[in-house]
Order: sequence, then C-alpha cells, then structure tokens
Amino acid sequence: MNYDFTEKEFTFFVQLHELMQAFTSANDPEKEDTAAIGQTTRGALAKLAETPYLSLGITPQKDLGLLSLMGAMEVLAALSPSLFLSVEMSTRVFGRSIQTWGNADQKAKWLTPLLAGKLVGAVALSEDALNVENEPLKTTGVKNGDSVVINGNKQYVVNGPIADWLAVAGMLDGKPALFLVEKNTKGLVLENRMATLGYEGTAMAGLRLADCTIPASQVLIPAQGQASLGLLRMWENQVILGASLGLMKAALEAAKNYAKTHKSGGRPVIAYQEVGFKLSEMLTLVQTSQLFAYRAAWIASDNPKEAESMTLCAKVFCTESAEQVASNALQILAGAGFMSGNVAERAYRCAKYGQIAGTSTEIARVKIGDESLGARLS
Ligand SMILES: Cc1cc2nc3c(=O)[nH]c(=O)nc-3n(C[C@H](O)[C@H](O)[C@H](O)COP(=O)(O)OP(=O)(O)OC[C@H]3O[C@@H](n4cnc5c(N)ncnc54)[C@H](O)[C@@H]3O)c2cc1C
Repeated sequence: MNYDFTEKEFTFFVQLHELMQAFTSANDPEKEDTAAIGQTTRGALAKLAETPYLSLGITPQKDLGLLSLMGAMEVLAALSPSLFLSVEMSTRVFGRSIQTWGNADQKAKWLTPLLAGKLVGAVALSEDALNVENEPLKTTGVKNGDSVVINGNKQYVVNGPIADWLAVAGMLDGKPALFLVEKNTKGLVLENRMATLGYEGTAMAGLRLADCTIPASQVLIPAQGQASLGLLRMWENQVILGASLGLMKAALEAAKNYAKTHKSGGRPVIAYQEVGFKLSEMLTLVQTSQLFAYRAAWIASDNPKEAESMTLCAKVFCTESAEQVASNALQILAGAGFMSGNVAERAYRCAKYGQIAGTSTEIARVKIGDESLGARLS
C-alpha cells in the first residue's frame, strides 16, 4: 500500500499541467457554444495524445497505472472541469467499453483513433424515468439478418452533440449490450443541447433512436451481463472522483491566494482567524479526499473485487467534500466570488454534479450498506 507518486509520475503531471495550461489559456474551454466545444475538445484530445494521458487505464503503460491516472485527472480537472468531463466521458468510459468488450476488429476501428486523439465518443446509459440501478434498460435492439434495429430514448448524454460515435446501452436477446452508433445514422435523433447548472462548456443532450439500424459488427456484448452496467458506473464514478479532486484543488488555491492578497479593514483577510479556520478545514478535506481517491484507485489496480465498494465510499466522501470546499472558497471570495466566471463560483456549481451523476449519493449509500455491510438480509 503505497500512494506516493514516483518521480516519473511527478514529471508526467508537471508536463501535463504545462501543456494543458497553455492550451486552456489559448482556447477557453468553458465557452457555451457547441461548435466551439467540439473544436476545443478535438484540439485538447490531439494535445493529450502527445502524452500517455489518453492511454492510462486502457492500454498498459510502463510505470504508469490507475493511481497515476487519478493524479493526472486531478491535474486536468483543476484546469477546466468542462474540458475534463468531455475528454473523460470519451476516453475513459467510451474507450474502456471498447477495450473491455470489443474484439480485435472493433478495437482497431474505434480504440486506435480514440487513443490517437482523433475520435470523440459518448456513452448513452441514462433513460427517462429510469435509473439503471433500479430497472432493466428499456432501449432494445432486435436482430434483423446482419443488422440490429434499435429503439429507445436516452438523456443527459455528455458529448452527445459533438461525438463521432455513441455507445448506446440497451437490451439485446434479454442481455445488456452496447450499440455503437455513428453520428448522422438514420433513426438517431439528437435533441436540443441541454443548459446545465455547471460544466456548461460540455455539450450534453438527450437522444431518440427510432428504428435506428446498425450492422451487427457494431454491437458489443459484455461477458458480465447485467454486472456490466455496474462496471460502466464504476468507470463513471472514477471520473467523478478525478473531477472532485480537481475542483477542490482549484477552489482551495483560488481562496488561499485571494485571502493572502485581498485586504479588508487594512489587513489581508487571511489574518482574520475565521477565514484561516475555513482554509484549514478546506485543506483537511482536500487532503483526506486525495488519500481516499488514491486508495480507491490503488485498490482498483490491485484488488478489482473490492474496487466497486471502495470507489462508492470514496465517491460519497469526495463529492460531498467538493461541495463544501467550493462553498467555503466562494465565501472567502465573498462579493468577488459571487460574480460569474471565477474559479470558486464555477467549482461550486460543478460540485453538485458529482453527487447526482454516476451512482448517485443516495444509491451509493444504499449499495454500501447492502453490499459492504450486509444490511440487506435475505
Ligand atoms: C452533468 C451530468 C452529466 C451526465 N452525463 C451522462 C452521460 O454522459 N451519459 C449518461 O448516460 N448519463 C449521464 N448523466 C446522467 C446521470 O448518470 C443520472 O442523472 C444519474 O444516474 C441519476 O439519474 P436520474 O437523474 O434519472 O435520477 P433518478 O433516478 O430519477 O433519481 C431521483 C432521486 O431519487 C434517488 N433514487 C433513485 N433511485 C434510488 C434508489 N434505488 N435508492 C435510493 N435513492 C434512489 C436519486 O439518488 C435521486 O436523488 C449525467 C448527469 C449529469 C447531471
């Protein structure tokens, strides 16, 4: 059990930070325009493909594993939450689906360009009035010769409006499957882009599939059956852990700098004990969250069986901490924090997402109780 980053990892994080700081300074990734989001995401993916970032957790990298991925996600999420979410839903959730369930031809077709930063993917799991934890998926594929005809509705799909390919979760022959649907396929209808509380620089939309027909070669059939949905959720939860660490890091940094430089009553506000206490509490939450998230990442590489429940525990703690840290940062920035467009305000708005998306905080608590603590007696 060692969560210390190696020199190689530190060097990688510094390079990643410098590369992406330059990129995000030149291209504002928090813009709300869909065409600009598409362009920025593609530009960022091309830059990231120059580093090991895109391959982490997907193809084996010498001396860089899942713990390195958690540290690297924290770096990118601190620079831009929106860009981070677009990149991660494409790379770590869409990409891992192909890596885990695709055959050699499917990997060559989708994973190779994805890891080269030339393809944007999206994963459509959530459905209207249904949480995948509660019921089987309603979206269904029906075989018709060498084709599959898909019908269903999906919502909240990150990258929906900008993706080249969408992995749509549904049922085929009574088992979960992922249908790989190219944008512009007949029968795939993207709804209007959704306006969101946070992450406004990501493009999110619902979609409808009405007799959308794809070749059978574009279907992934997970060997784990129903449990595959849990795996998809775990990958989302890992992304949300990275997002939470990044939000907290950026908010704490902004509040600390402001408290040291902004004067009120003739002294820097950090001199007021109550402000100092807030910063101490924030640092404590950031450090505890880092340890928790790093431990969840370390367990995922060392003991995948325990990974799901540890990831859920870490997600509950880190996402609630992110909201608290961002709220304290905004309070320290006070009037300046309440103005749109500053780091603390953005972190505050984005933090709520972590408790809702992936396995929601409520469902996570139920699962931790049932599965880890044996609360459900049969
Ligand atoms: C910014 C953002 C990005 C997203 N990106 C994607 C994406 O790319 N792809 C995708 O497929 N989805 C995505 N989602 C959807 C996300 O996964 C869902 O919002 C989430 O799973 C919750 O589902 P729901 O909104 O339908 O809530 P509901 O299931 O309707 O839940 C409503 C409330 O009831 C509680 N609840 C529901 N069931 C239970 C239960 N069994 N036990 C206890 N409490 C329960 C919930 O916790 C919640 O508080 C995204 C969401 C957001 C906000």
